[in-house]
Amino acid sequence: MTINILFAAKSERWATYEAPLSRALSQAGLEFELRPDFPPAEVDYIIYAPNSSLQDFRPYTRLKAVLNLWAGVEDVVQNETLKVPLTRMVDHGLTQGMVEWVTGHVLRHHLGMDAHILGQDGQWRTAVPPLAEDRPVTILGMGALGQACAAALTGLGFPVSGWSRSAKTVPQVATYHGYDGLQTALSTAQILVLLLPDTPVTTDILNADTLAELPRGAIVINPGRGPLIDDNALIAALDSGQLAHATLDVFRVEPLPADHPFWAHPKITVTPHIASATREGTASQTIAENIRRGEAGEPFLHVVDRALGY
Ligand code: NAP
Repeated sequence: MTINILFAAKSERWATYEAPLSRALSQAGLEFELRPDFPPAEVDYIIYAPNSSLQDFRPYTRLKAVLNLWAGVEDVVQNETLKVPLTRMVDHGLTQGMVEWVTGHVLRHHLGMDAHILGQDGQWRTAVPPLAEDRPVTILGMGALGQACAAALTGLGFPVSGWSRSAKTVPQVATYHGYDGLQTALSTAQILVLLLPDTPVTTDILNADTLAELPRGAIVINPGRGPLIDDNALIAALDSGQLAHATLDVFRVEPLPADHPFWAHPKITVTPHIASATREGTASQTIAENIRRGEAGEPFLHVVDRALGY
């Protein structure tokens, strides 16, 4: 029987996704109809972006799963009209993009590149940066993205610590969990990378108290989510010298308002939520594999725990 798949995202996304999704679904051996509109009662699966106009799932009476196109699910996970499994995006392109962005920004700060890029002023600055092996990096969040970034950074020689909700073993990474584990993970972090999801528990995880646990002069890099950081505490830590710099890709309000103090702060770099993005080609394969699994009665990949919020 034909599987009806609704593509529910901003209309401009349909143009980029239609061909790779159709190809991946065909390669998965599925007999399907893929459209940006369907009578709700005929839909089996929804490929979903949380900023689409679809917010009420109740009319989708034969729905089997909602397949989120994004890694972050904070804008859909609390939706009480959604009763079927929700999966989130884990895909090679998204992961590799994040690894490249994080590695680039870690290296910028580690090597002190700004002094040479911005300081073309005739001064012969001879300070040689330390080796990576002398620059401890901590990553909060040891999920798909945190672990991939840890692998890249340990490959370059950085000593990496990782913190997560549950205990885990990650090759070449000193792992911690729980509140005491957080303090230990922060205490050595010359560079701190945030790759946690936005949940009620992680909101403001970087606040005046936790910022004070970092070594003086630490760098914060946040490609996770804006609400992970207490904005005022971050600015205070930068102004006091507790932090040397913050590179921020995500914000409580996006786009970051033009009058937000982050824009003008000399120790903050703003990037416009571009650390990584779902890539149509590889993401389509993840989606197709999950629909294949659904039809074969196999467990879905990357199912969101609605109680935990990620
Ligand atoms: P993931 O695989 O779900 O990993 C999340 C990690 O956070 C896990 O290690 C989890 O611990 C940990 N965690 C969650 N709640 C915690 C808590 N209360 N205390 C300690 N650790 C906690 O997610 P992912 O694919 O790596 O993505 C991470 C986040 O990156 C996404 O949620 C999204 O917000 C963000 N992101 C940003 C961009 C961008 O362009 N800026 C792009 C993609 C994703 P356990 O391992 O114990 O479960």
